[in-house]
Amino acid sequence: MRNASEVDDVVERVRKKLGIYNQEKFDIIEILSTKLKGHIAGFTLQVWADHYFTDEEAWFDSEGPKIVVKQSVYDGAALGNQRDVFTLTHELGHLILGHRGVRFRKTERDRQAQHDRITGDEEHEARLFAAAFIAPTAMLYPGITVAEIRNRFILSETAAQKRLNEYNQYWRRKNKMERPLPQNVIDFLAEFEKRR
Ligand SMILES: [Zn+2]
Repeated sequence: MRNASEVDDVVERVRKKLGIYNQEKFDIIEILSTKLKGHIAGFTLQVWADHYFTDEEAWFDSEGPKIVVKQSVYDGAALGNQRDVFTLTHELGHLILGHRGVRFRKTERDRQAQHDRITGDEEHEARLFAAAFIAPTAMLYPGITVAEIRNRFILSETAAQKRLNEYNQYWRRKNKMERPLPQNVIDFLAEFEKRR
């Protein structure tokens, strides 16, 4: 499975190729319906009426390849609705990361019911891709707040909080900083180390 920094590298290359490198907000519909045309052979975005869908909001099919999206989700994404943009960017992740077969993006309840290991890994990768594509690591900085992330990028409050946690984790790792220990543990260790 690709880790977060491998996904960051892929995101950076794709954003450059799409001409949106260093651009905060972007039009996912334009990317999927226009910009990818001619770059990924055979790729289509198909919009189907809501009544064809049960629990899923969209899906990716490596045959084609294609992304099929519910009309209401497409409309929401066109208006910049954060959840709908995330859904379509997640499907873009499956396409870019070369996932095989059919990948559904279902409601939270159904996603939790998925146990298949490969499916689980690929869903995780697609989620990492979506979060990093929407708010690239290179455009974040230490001390950035959830409010700033929400103001600059197309992320809901919950998704922005999650993205901030991921970024802080990345930053600590990059700077080889451990998660700080609680003060009482630091005191305990200092006392112990003094006695030696
Ligand atoms: Zn998925």
